[in-house]
Amino acid sequence: MDRRKFLAVSLTTTALSACGGGSGGGNGSIASSSSSVSSENGIWGQLATQLSGTVLRPGQNDYELLRRVYNTRYDHIKPVAVVRCTSVQDVQATLAFARSQKLAIVPRSGGHGYAGYSTTEGIVLDLGQMKSIQVGPGTATIGAGARLVDIYDQLGAQGVGIPAGSCPTVGIGGLTLGGGIGIVDRAYGLTCDNLLAAEVVLADGRVIECDAQNHADLFWALRGGGGGNFGVVTRFTFKTHTTADITTFDSYFDFNDFTRVMSAWQAWPETLPNHIWAQAIPGWNSPSSSPALQIRVFCIGSIADMTPHWQHFLQQAGVTPLWVSQVTEPYRSVMLSGCGELNIPACHVQGDGQGQYPRNAFAASSDFFAKPIPEEGLLVLKQAILDSQLAGNYGMMIMDLMHGAIDELAADETAFVHRGALFSVEYYTWFRAGTANNQVDAAQVWVNSFRQTLSPWTTGGAYVNYIDPLISNYEVAYYGANYPRLQQVKATYDPDWLFKIPQGVKPL
Ligand SMILES: Cc1cc2nc3c(=O)[nH]c(=O)nc-3n(C[C@H](O)[C@H](O)[C@H](O)COP(=O)(O)OP(=O)(O)OC[C@H]3O[C@@H](n4cnc5c(N)ncnc54)[C@H](O)[C@@H]3O)c2cc1C
Repeated sequence: MDRRKFLAVSLTTTALSACGGGSGGGNGSIASSSSSVSSENGIWGQLATQLSGTVLRPGQNDYELLRRVYNTRYDHIKPVAVVRCTSVQDVQATLAFARSQKLAIVPRSGGHGYAGYSTTEGIVLDLGQMKSIQVGPGTATIGAGARLVDIYDQLGAQGVGIPAGSCPTVGIGGLTLGGGIGIVDRAYGLTCDNLLAAEVVLADGRVIECDAQNHADLFWALRGGGGGNFGVVTRFTFKTHTTADITTFDSYFDFNDFTRVMSAWQAWPETLPNHIWAQAIPGWNSPSSSPALQIRVFCIGSIADMTPHWQHFLQQAGVTPLWVSQVTEPYRSVMLSGCGELNIPACHVQGDGQGQYPRNAFAASSDFFAKPIPEEGLLVLKQAILDSQLAGNYGMMIMDLMHGAIDELAADETAFVHRGALFSVEYYTWFRAGTANNQVDAAQVWVNSFRQTLSPWTTGGAYVNYIDPLISNYEVAYYGANYPRLQQVKATYDPDWLFKIPQGVKPL
């Protein structure tokens, strides 16, 4: 049962007030825009005449629909305008406008950022319509507004793919800039590791193409430095790989066997080839039911390829699963499995074209582990889950194996510093749209608290794409030793700090 199915069967959801920080551009309130733009219609009208896209202002059609991000905890934030760009020139004109009017401005690709940093009381630069996808020999050139569903659909139809995330409605923009974890990253690396070039509109309006030779420092920062920091990426060019069928082993284990199963799972990478990726997902619900422990494995190959590795794992664990399913499917089907019964147009968030995917509110945090958690740590982890359940909380921990091709790059070869990690974990809980903000605020506190509980065994790192507004030393957690170099890049490409978010890279 993946995140969405777990969501589907799970409990109620809510919305939450703006995260800490507040002084930055993203979702914080910068100089209340309305008063300083009194002759509003005039200047907004002038901007609109310069654009091939559209300017949506409060009260206008679609404004309410398109101002919102995926996480409904930020529905209270009302941008002074949502500018739906259809060209690089639209981005340039809107940036110039924001500078001249001293308005906060944030780019938005898929709107799936965890902490609402792609919404603001200033201007939302909506790139959602800049979503063209072109496949070339060994490459794919993709507009920053494209969603994973369209990418998997269109690339898959041509027998190629790029390694990216598992949820189809996520935008390629934020995902790539933060790294990009997914089921084939041990085979092909992170999404950002497959980036060949990017077109970027800088704060001063210049449009540059960056790659390993040109503006290489910016290109370095765009691979793991996180979205919303250095400029507006309008187009990505990726290296593609040829797709092949994928075999999925999905299983559940008795929670009482937690430490044995987790010990075997953590040791698995010692024998696991790179074309096999695995997840461990402890999930807990109402105290009336026992927590669940799910192990999911994705093998680029057949059941015959996967079986010896599965048998080895079970042997190491020394227990029998409660339930197992094994299936081999085309690559495209596996990547689009998050769509469930929905067809491609419907497999978008409500408000995005014919999208039917409901939004929800959620709270999350993350950790990285360089070494297996020892028995005593696994007992602490197991107890933390039981305590959370007893406290009436529900949630899941999504643990993704790493190593493999992810380690082919050193920690300082891109801004994604978490190389060499054995696995990442996301602590996650969710709420139905419209529930009181303070409920999700409270949840943000307890999901964040797992970082403290497990700190004796973690690297201290955190994944910028599972951004957690409560992480105080975020610069170190997200970027480690790469932070000073990121600050240098910030100072070079956004010296006046136009792109400002609460947990952003500060110029030197
Ligand atoms: C349901 C769900 C499932 C997820 N699954 C995965 C997964 O499997 N693997 C994984 O690695 N991550 C996953 N994520 C996390 C996801 O990668 C991040 O939330 C990511 O930042 C979302 O990108 P976006 O473009 O959709 O979001 P947005 O909210 O549009 O952007 C996120 C941040 O990037 C900035 N940004 C966006 N586009 C640009 C651009 N073109 N130029 C400059 N800055 C930009 C925004 O200003 C914001 O600060 C998931 C998130 C959700 C909500």
